[in-house]
Amino acid sequence: MVTAMGVSVGLTAGAIMAKGTIRQKERWAAPLLTMEKIGSWAITEPGSGSDAFGSMMATAKRKGDGYVLNGSKTFITNGPFADTIVFICKLDEGNDPRERKVVSFILDKGMPGLTQSKPLRKMGMHSSPTGQLFLEDVLVEKERLIGESEEAAGGRSGAKATFGTERSGVAAMALGIVEQCLEKSIDYAKTRVQFGRPIGEFQLIQLKLAKMEVARMNIQNIVFRQIEMSAQKKPMPFAAASACKLYTAQAAMEVALEAVQLFGGNGYMAEYQVEQLCRDAKVLQIYAGTDEIQTSQIARSLLGGA
Ligand SMILES: Cc1cc2nc3c(=O)[nH]c(=O)nc-3n(C[C@H](O)[C@H](O)[C@H](O)COP(=O)(O)OP(=O)(O)OC[C@H]3O[C@@H](n4cnc5c(N)ncnc54)[C@H](O)[C@@H]3O)c2cc1C
Repeated sequence: MVTAMGVSVGLTAGAIMAKGTIRQKERWAAPLLTMEKIGSWAITEPGSGSDAFGSMMATAKRKGDGYVLNGSKTFITNGPFADTIVFICKLDEGNDPRERKVVSFILDKGMPGLTQSKPLRKMGMHSSPTGQLFLEDVLVEKERLIGESEEAAGGRSGAKATFGTERSGVAAMALGIVEQCLEKSIDYAKTRVQFGRPIGEFQLIQLKLAKMEVARMNIQNIVFRQIEMSAQKKPMPFAAASACKLYTAQAAMEVALEAVQLFGGNGYMAEYQVEQLCRDAKVLQIYAGTDEIQTSQIARSLLGGA
């Protein structure tokens, strides 16, 4: 649920608020911020995930005073139900796709040529619908181009800023998962009796609880740091946001797996909920940039690259 809300408010409205015109903010961002409408932010395509810009095939071609949009997007949070979609594509001026400008448009549900798929079946995060978008010759006026100028239209820097926001959001979700796992594990360790003793008296179980608490404290500190920086209107540097995302996603996954282990057979059963937390945690290592992509971005920054 937090993923679905985060994408609608943080990413979709966030992208419009960051680079849109006042009219665009009023018309499209306001109903997302008040949650009257649901938003999607669409960059991933069947052939372009980690290499989001390089392999992007979706296009905008100028037509009269507006544009014609084509392409397909996949794994889009809220895609099946979104009222408002930020669609990221490349401006096709007949040049090499790798050299094209990146531009973003705001689309409305029901526009001719836009198809929103049914939700895809997936491993976890079942309360956050994920789907595909198909655009076939969708005609849009210039007022839907974010910023209403090809130069200011969100582009690579706009999308990159959204990646930063997305990465920061993962830490808060990781904290929720870890807190839930720890709380449930403590209760279970106190009440589950084996060999005549609560399992919490075994040192191997205590080690698991202690490691979960260390992870919880670390993630909480990261979230507090992000809140402090945001309150001071200081954007977190991109590599730092990647480091936070990488650490918190991995820690949540490790904690959730250990919670399942601590619950034994019950941990593998849906009834005890740690199984769900474990399935939910996995996606934190995949969306908003995989662990591998975060790792290489942190290293590139340390070595003085972009
Ligand atoms: C539940 C869910 C919700 C999502 N929501 C959205 C959304 O709202 N909007 C949106 O646009 N996208 C969304 N995504 C897409 C998500 O951001 C991508 O799945 C993710 O970026 C990875 O891309 P990919 O799936 O194409 O994997 P690939 O890029 O094909 O990667 C496959 C594997 O190769 C590795 N790899 C790739 N390149 C490198 C490299 N250079 N070095 C080392 N390893 C590499 C990856 O780390 C991964 O392990 C969502 C995905 C999921 C699962």
